[in-house]
Amino acid sequence: MVTYKKNSKRISLTPTEDIVTFAKRKGFVYPSSEIYGGFAGVYDYGPVGMLLLNNIKKEWLQSMVQDRTDIYGLDSGIVTHPRVWEASGHTKGFTDPLVINNKTHERYRADHLLEEIGVACENVSFEEFVSLWNTHKHTVRFPQGVSVQDVGDPTYFNLLAKTNLGSVTYDTQKEEIAYLRGETCQGIYLNYKNVYDTMHPKLPFGIAQIGKAFRNEISPRQFLFRCREFEQMEMQYFIYPGQSKKYFGYFKKLRMKWLISLGLSKKKLRFLPHSKLVFYAQAAEDIQFQYSFGWKELEGVHDRGNYDLTQHAAFSKQKLAYFDEKSNTHLIPHIIETSIGAGRLFYALLEQNYTVQKVSKEETRIVLTLAYHMAPYQMAVFPLFKKTKFQKYAKKIFTSQSNKYSIVYDDTGSIGKRYRRQDEIGTPYCITVDEITLKKNTVTVRNRDTMKQKRIPVSKISTYIEKELIAARKKLS
Ligand code: ATP
Repeated sequence: MVTYKKNSKRISLTPTEDIVTFAKRKGFVYPSSEIYGGFAGVYDYGPVGMLLLNNIKKEWLQSMVQDRTDIYGLDSGIVTHPRVWEASGHTKGFTDPLVINNKTHERYRADHLLEEIGVACENVSFEEFVSLWNTHKHTVRFPQGVSVQDVGDPTYFNLLAKTNLGSVTYDTQKEEIAYLRGETCQGIYLNYKNVYDTMHPKLPFGIAQIGKAFRNEISPRQFLFRCREFEQMEMQYFIYPGQSKKYFGYFKKLRMKWLISLGLSKKKLRFLPHSKLVFYAQAAEDIQFQYSFGWKELEGVHDRGNYDLTQHAAFSKQKLAYFDEKSNTHLIPHIIETSIGAGRLFYALLEQNYTVQKVSKEETRIVLTLAYHMAPYQMAVFPLFKKTKFQKYAKKIFTSQSNKYSIVYDDTGSIGKRYRRQDEIGTPYCITVDEITLKKNTVTVRNRDTMKQKRIPVSKISTYIEKELIAARKKLS
């Protein structure tokens, strides 16, 4: 809990509110449609936030596609044929249990209310859920001022978001509904045959994509953790039947290692196997992160068997089999999936790295202790004085580095304030152009964490920063 002064009153904020305020103030994340009072479950990434988000996506693509010979990238459409979601089971089964407050009309996720009091209800049937609800509803912790008498019975609520985009309705009684995709992996299954036919891969191989997904979440809460519009980074790995255990274990390890390589603390990450599997899954584990509101799913690793391709083959009446030259037979590959929300990861990075440090007896500073390669800017460049000759020199440095690094120029306020501003958004290096620069072509480089300065030749800025970034990254591997 942090205490702030607002309108000369001291206010205390919970960790989530604290991060939300900070994220807006520093240009990371803005509430959507704010001038119209906001739009729940949707967020806009600001000038600084979009750089961090892009770093997350760049790192994921690098490790899941570019560094590999066996995984192909994809960027599929958001709106698909309506039958896709029938085949996948989403039109019927993509539901969450909902209870409604009869007085305020507020909606609550009934499964989350049960889970909060330790009742496991993941992947149970509706009948089982109702029975669990009726047994435990009197001990549920409702929001303040709400009691069990205020809420109705649970119903199932479908999360797919409907759209009429592309639907040509001649018969108004029979409107054809399309859906905004509820998960990006369906686009991968739809293109499995295309990728197979054009790239000629041999099993095992994967297809990976980053893209927007939409879910009509009942109560979008906890900032970027549960949104109605969000970005997923998903990879489907197609394997021979019988190899699931091997690749499930392999991807679990790989994904955990990747999260640590971004600077997430090992202590704040753990695996949690699902207590009850959906009917087609052979195995499923979450990688959880310890958010300020508890251990929650950050990424899922799932053994989906051959359910997805079998379903789409049956519904589309197309052959989605793989021809295995070794055995001269056709087979339906099994799938191991890895799936992570870019926003949930963004939020985890903000929460873990948002630090209030004591600098002296009177002074504190906010530092975003992001791994250097993840920081929105790797470098900032300042003219010490707001005079043309210093500004011109600093801008020349900016131009010479901007094609290699993410760099920002700042000449407003005192140098101390400029350092603090960069600390807050995690910039690891600040370069200052001063009087000596003009005479000797050297600059000071100040490190975010040590706050120490060093003087280096202008001609060495690029190699100095490169060396520092490589060394910092090595420590995370
Ligand atoms: P949860 O149980 O938290 O609702 P889920 O099991 O429905 O998550 P999946 O369908 O497996 O999640 O989605 C894969 C990943 O997509 C999740 O691990 C998470 O990182 C992200 N994700 C899912 N739903 C949301 C959401 N509403 N907002 C932001 N990210 C999400």
